[in-house]
Amino acid sequence: MGSDDKIVDVNFESLLRIFTVPEAPDSTLGNIEQKLSQNLNEFLREHIVAEEKPLSEIEKDFLNSAIPETPTFVSEHTQHLLDTVVSHSVHTSAPSFIGHMTSALPYFLMPLSKIMIALNQNLVKIETSKAFTPLERQVLGMLHRLIYQQGDDFYQHWMHSAEHSLGAFCSGGTIANITALWVARNNALKADGDFQGVGKEGLYHAMMHYGYKGMAVLVSERGHYSLKKAADILGIGQQNLIAVKTDSQNRICPIALEETICHLKIQNIKPFAIIGVAGTTETGSIDPLDKIADIAEREECHFHVDAAWGGATLMSNNHRYLLKGIERADSVTIDAHKQMYIPMGAGMVLFKNPSAMTSIEHHAEYILRKGSKDLGAHTLEGSRSGMAMLVYSSMHIISRPGYELLIDQSIEKAKFFANLIEQQQDFELISKPELCILTYRYVPLKTKKALAIASAKEKEELHQLLNELTKFIQKKQRENGRSFVSRTRLTPEKWGRMETNVFRVVLANPLTDKGILHSVIEEQRKIAKTSPIVLPKIETLTSTILQL
Ligand SMILES: *Cc1c(COP(=O)(O)O)cnc(C)c1O
Repeated sequence: MGSDDKIVDVNFESLLRIFTVPEAPDSTLGNIEQKLSQNLNEFLREHIVAEEKPLSEIEKDFLNSAIPETPTFVSEHTQHLLDTVVSHSVHTSAPSFIGHMTSALPYFLMPLSKIMIALNQNLVKIETSKAFTPLERQVLGMLHRLIYQQGDDFYQHWMHSAEHSLGAFCSGGTIANITALWVARNNALKADGDFQGVGKEGLYHAMMHYGYKGMAVLVSERGHYSLKKAADILGIGQQNLIAVKTDSQNRICPIALEETICHLKIQNIKPFAIIGVAGTTETGSIDPLDKIADIAEREECHFHVDAAWGGATLMSNNHRYLLKGIERADSVTIDAHKQMYIPMGAGMVLFKNPSAMTSIEHHAEYILRKGSKDLGAHTLEGSRSGMAMLVYSSMHIISRPGYELLIDQSIEKAKFFANLIEQQQDFELISKPELCILTYRYVPLKTKKALAIASAKEKEELHQLLNELTKFIQKKQRENGRSFVSRTRLTPEKWGRMETNVFRVVLANPLTDKGILHSVIEEQRKIAKTSPIVLPKIETLTSTILQL
């Protein structure tokens, strides 16, 4: 309650009002709506405070575990949200925040998502979604066509077929990857003679029937952690998600892949799926998809491509070639909430074969009846929102050539930034951008020279210190609140596979300009020089090595 002694009663009348009548235009919420629609970026800039507050401080606003016994006025609560939640949110759409895969959103999505929420359709079954079901099937058709490029006849035949699915819409890449591996597992351990299939009889009986000692999934060591979750819940075991060696450019080594498969088969472990990554989360690298496809075909393995982040590149006719071979995949994951600029909660998995999802089909009497067009028969999730509408709208409003421009400019910008880093005497580019992700670190010029002549032991020591320095700079920069880059750990071939902390930058936001990129490294350089402990240690060791 506020101090003005306004008391809100719990009464049915006012509850009816909150279901039907909007807030007045001059109310707090009405005001916010107006400001949001006038200038979204300005609103966010005004209300998100730049200075970082320790999480322990923020937690103090969220300590009460009792559900309130008295209602609050909407206006009062809105102010409360502005003060406690909005102010300490991350400004993901700020052009200087270049560390996230999910960045700025086009403004039209705000009012459009209100329509989506107001309609509150449930895509699990046709009775609660009507037009949203064919809409979602069309969106899946569009993405399927983007990958597999079948003709009009194909899509006319399959897109709206009750017994088939070109894919599944879901909350994100994690569920999409799980769905793909679920289909792959069930196809590899399908019904056969007396055996009714792994879905019915479980993994133990499936292994007994097929005479396997285990099931394995192969992916490069840069594979996304969601695959571990998939291996876990599908009963494969995290240990049987096998990480295959990568080359100097963070791409899977096909020879190592073949060797690993051989090794597994000798142990009677069935490699049932091979995953190619098209845009790794850390470096944006793309695996040699054609070569993986050859191996998967020969081994009769399911070939899945995790293009959660990089899949949108297919929209650019100028860069689509980078993903060559993706059209040979049995399934592909694409996140619309990454490079398609859709709000969080929009993932998709597409299957080349419209019948592939039969292996995970589920029916129930009151819902998902056989022969119905209910999307829920083929989705891991049950109730689902109409997010597909936002993808549908963006495809129409931005269009394929519009996305091409967005993709192309981000790749250009990444190249520009990589060049800029290479021009700096005191920075080191660690991974070149194939798409719009790159990694780098700060290394004082003299230390670079020292590294060139250092002994193995000295090198390792310097490396440890540089790792600490990278961590220090990244953390301070985040705390300063003006800009943000993320941080990850790689094992670059150049440094003998030593674990190396790096800054990671994703240049997807179209509002990020070259001036901002200049100031990001300027700020990092400044911060580095304020490092009280690590930098002096680095300087001392450097001098010792250079015998200064
Ligand atoms: C982001 C990402 C995922 C996981 O997607 P979520 O939407 O976060 O569940 C999987 N694979 C790759 C390569 C990714 O970049």
